[in-house]
Amino acid sequence: MSMTRERQAPETPRRIERRTFFRRAAMAGATAVGLLRAGGIARAASTNALRTKTVFRLSTRGHPYACNACKTHAAFRYYKYWKIANGDRAHANCHCNIVTQPFTEKRYNRWFAHGRTIVDVRWRPKPFQG
Ligand SMILES: [Zn+2]
Repeated sequence: MSMTRERQAPETPRRIERRTFFRRAAMAGATAVGLLRAGGIARAASTNALRTKTVFRLSTRGHPYACNACKTHAAFRYYKYWKIANGDRAHANCHCNIVTQPFTEKRYNRWFAHGRTIVDVRWRPKPFQG
């Protein structure tokens, strides 16, 4: 009886040790996977963020008394070029600012495909989503 007790005594801590080792190994593995995933996401995000194009819009921001024509016109229309935006004002004496907006390259190419320079999002059919 005493023999078995002596034998069991050193076995118990070893078993715990082994379990701890596996737990730590699993945690380390999970951390490594997490880091790899985070790296992949960061890489994907940076490449997408870098691939942007600039579009132009008329904006009534900063004009508290902007007319409804300007507001509606500005809200829905996107321009490929500053010059096109400037030439497409809602009315003479429109003082809307021309502002820029970043588009992803993918969206830019889709919206301004086939030589389009103005996109009005009220137009149907709507090939401009994305
Ligand atoms: Zn205006």
